[in-house]
Amino acid sequence: MSRLLPLILVIIISCKEKEPNTSSYVAFTGAVIIDGSGKTPIQNGTLLLSEGRVMAVGSQEAIDIPENTQIHDVSGKTIIPGIINAHGHVGDVKGIEGGHYSNENTIDNLSIYARYGVTTVVSLGGERIEAEPLRAVNDTTAGQRARLFIAGEVIDGDTPAEALAVVEKNHKMGVDFMKIRVDDNLGTIQKMPEDVYKAVINRSHELGYKISTHMYYLEDAKKLLEAGSDMMAHSVRDVPVDTEFIALLKEKNISYCPTLTRELSTYIYGEEGDFFDDPFFSREYDSATVRPLRDPEYKLKIRNSLSAQTYKKQLPVAMSNLKTLSDAGIPIIFGTDSGIPTRFMGYFEHLEMELMADSGLTPMQIIVSATKIPAEYLNLKDLGTLSQGHWADFVILDADPLEDIKNVRHIHKVFIGGEEINR
Ligand SMILES: [Zn+2]
Repeated sequence: MSRLLPLILVIIISCKEKEPNTSSYVAFTGAVIIDGSGKTPIQNGTLLLSEGRVMAVGSQEAIDIPENTQIHDVSGKTIIPGIINAHGHVGDVKGIEGGHYSNENTIDNLSIYARYGVTTVVSLGGERIEAEPLRAVNDTTAGQRARLFIAGEVIDGDTPAEALAVVEKNHKMGVDFMKIRVDDNLGTIQKMPEDVYKAVINRSHELGYKISTHMYYLEDAKKLLEAGSDMMAHSVRDVPVDTEFIALLKEKNISYCPTLTRELSTYIYGEEGDFFDDPFFSREYDSATVRPLRDPEYKLKIRNSLSAQTYKKQLPVAMSNLKTLSDAGIPIIFGTDSGIPTRFMGYFEHLEMELMADSGLTPMQIIVSATKIPAEYLNLKDLGTLSQGHWADFVILDADPLEDIKNVRHIHKVFIGGEEINR
């Protein structure tokens, strides 16, 4: 009997949950709603939620609000879907230092992202097996943190056998994606050979994974597309993209993730004009945390480094490539490569949006790249747009982001799975 009782209780509770009672409904009314699809925003909109999911989105006239709904009038505000970062990293960094990997730190990182309006993070490498239970797939609502998808260990190796062993390890771990790195770090290390990445891509596809690629050079990017890579995880930065590359992306329907702030992070701390006093930055990262980055010796070291000098020069190439590809109709997928030391989680997503705008993308294009595109191209179930049945992951803004993408900084409230994030 004592064994049966919990079971009976579970049955009673779950039966009760099958029929959502109307008191569980929550509505946000009067806002401009940008649903992430790229369609014209809904004026005077209603967003109706229940049990963490979107029940209805539309104009106030079109949506019937059930009795007993808890109504929040958010007239004058703008609602956008939560930002999806399709290329981040979690778990390792605390402040400006790496080497702090734990589930506790992963959750802490994800909570920082959430407070900046980033409601989903696709972590492209570095997560360990203990992160598996934190994945988004296990969540009904994600709690006080962003949802997480993982890629496990970044696949490397000089021979197919070595690299394939990593693929199997990741598969066992239960990753969502595979990630490879094909880059010689400006000629300083050995690049993954072609036969190795071909073997890795084929095996990943056999096992049912999409594979995203860290790359730098246009020639490698083309070869990787030919070999079947499913996502370009960075910008082509060495030379302007050409028609052959555009044709390959189109033919294979592959998304392209610019990560412009990755380049910025390599040189910005060598210069004057950092952002450390910006209150939107210092609300999460205080002056003591960033003090070592302001040390004159550190700044000089950065200024003199090959990577700072090269990547600074190549950032405009990346930005112009982004505009070319966006104009050509290539799906641009929002990502930053944040969560690496000095690439500040949450804040960098806002900087990235600004750099995308500086590259010539419209605010609507940027919002779609951070919502609909990642959900669609990475198969992130029930995420992306604010539509019926999707998770209620959204941000209420005090200002209109279509006027200026910087207005995404004016966060009123963030919700993940219908739950408000404490900010
Ligand atoms: Zn990365």
